[in-house]
Amino acid sequence: GLFDAPDASEVLTTRPPVVTIMGHVDHGKTSLLDAIRHTTVVKGEAGGITQHIGAYQVTTPLGGKVTFIDTPGHAAFTAMRQRGARSTDIVVLVVAADDGVMPQTAEAINHARAAGVPIIVAINKIDKPDAKPERVRSELLQYEIQVESLGGETLEVEVSAKERLNLDKLLELIQLQAELLDLKANPDRPAEGVVIEAKLDRGRGPVATVLVQRGTLRQGDVIVAGAEWGRVRALVDDKGKAVSEAPPSMPVEILGFNGAPEAGDRLAVVENEARAREVAEYRQRQKREQAAARATVRVSGLEEMMSQIKTAGKKEFPLVIKGDVQGSVEAIVQALEKVGNDEVGVRVLLSGAGGVTESDVILAAASNAVVLGFNVRALKDARDAADRTGTEIRYYNIIYDLVDDIKSAMSGMLSPERREDFLGNAEIREIFAVSKVGKIAGCLVTEGVVQKGASVRLIRENVVIHEGKLATLKRFKDDVQEVRAGTECGMSFENYQDMRAGDVIECYRVTEVKRSL
Ligand code: GDP
Repeated sequence: GLFDAPDASEVLTTRPPVVTIMGHVDHGKTSLLDAIRHTTVVKGEAGGITQHIGAYQVTTPLGGKVTFIDTPGHAAFTAMRQRGARSTDIVVLVVAADDGVMPQTAEAINHARAAGVPIIVAINKIDKPDAKPERVRSELLQYEIQVESLGGETLEVEVSAKERLNLDKLLELIQLQAELLDLKANPDRPAEGVVIEAKLDRGRGPVATVLVQRGTLRQGDVIVAGAEWGRVRALVDDKGKAVSEAPPSMPVEILGFNGAPEAGDRLAVVENEARAREVAEYRQRQKREQAAARATVRVSGLEEMMSQIKTAGKKEFPLVIKGDVQGSVEAIVQALEKVGNDEVGVRVLLSGAGGVTESDVILAAASNAVVLGFNVRALKDARDAADRTGTEIRYYNIIYDLVDDIKSAMSGMLSPERREDFLGNAEIREIFAVSKVGKIAGCLVTEGVVQKGASVRLIRENVVIHEGKLATLKRFKDDVQEVRAGTECGMSFENYQDMRAGDVIECYRVTEVKRSL
């Protein structure tokens, strides 16, 4: 469960699977999504005008429903996963039969695996004369994907998005996989879901496409997603039709938000507008504080002068570059300007031909820059100045080495990728005030496991009211490292005392993964 204890099993009913199509660029993700939608529209919903709302639902030949997230590529999938939103039940991995397994195919496999989502392999472009489906199957073995026809367990199908071949078979496999996963949700509770995409529409105001994950969303519901709130004025389905409610796994467009939330934001229904406003304002404050922290840059006198060339918010790696001839200096500057991305880049304070001089070093020191010497050395005065100011001078005679070195130095400036793994849920049963210690929450672990030191979210009536760390975890009088589902325990939180009986504690681990350019 995302927000609170799991629903008792008697109220759970089967829900359709949510599918994301992933694969290498040009292998046919968009074509396949279009073909599937078109096929089912022609068959069952003649005249139905499909409109792009970021996701759509179709009926399989076996009669079940399948929801497709219509934003192909890993970006959306990864963005949602990073924010703890589990939006996908099954990944359809598209591999073009004429091209085989490519870098983004491997990436997709890794993403699906990391999220614990099963893969169905769709070997596409089977209509092409140079299609080699056998080669695709054996290439996949290198990534530990063994398809059924090679004796493995991964479901597979040869398709052609262009000729609309075997699309029914693909839908059947998805339904089969979904049955194996036994996907269930409780439709009879306030809705929860995840924002797939959102925009500010000129005529209609903020519009958000949401995938309902539990409960049923209805017109008139008061909703919060991320730092935005509103009241559902209208719900629009993937055919552009107004509907009065949306059950689990149904994608739906919501009109009625006061501002556009962000993709990956979780949606919850709350009891009234006052509560919704309170939560949204709290999160807006949090967002502003985070943005302010990011924007704080150290500015010294000389840096201020140089800052005209600085892009706001972007981390820049300041450099002074000296080389033997103007030609090589220009080549280096050009190569370095290509290194980096939206977050980091180089800033060349000065470049030119000639040895490294004292004034080069002083300029570098004032901006905390590194001096690069290409086929040149520093003069005596310059070396003294470098020692005095603690400025680094690096020498190179191969451009490739220089660029490579700067690349890895800049990678160190990238903020690490943040990954969230759900651990478990607990419910607060009673609060105890312990002298000198403060408040202790007497809890029952209802799902998974809770661990000392892990990250926690406190959830009251479906909304997050605090995020922090689990400071102490006790079984009776003893400190313990972890407590499993079905067991009672005592908890206290870092810098937080305002918990109450009935609050739900979601426990999760955050891992930070180093990135490179
Ligand atoms: P995406 O980048 O993965 O979304 O790939 P697209 O759907 O844009 O397809 C890339 C190219 O492959 C386009 O020119 C499509 O027309 C073509 N294509 C997609 N599916 C098939 C197919 O089944 N057979 C053939 N022959 N071409 C296809």
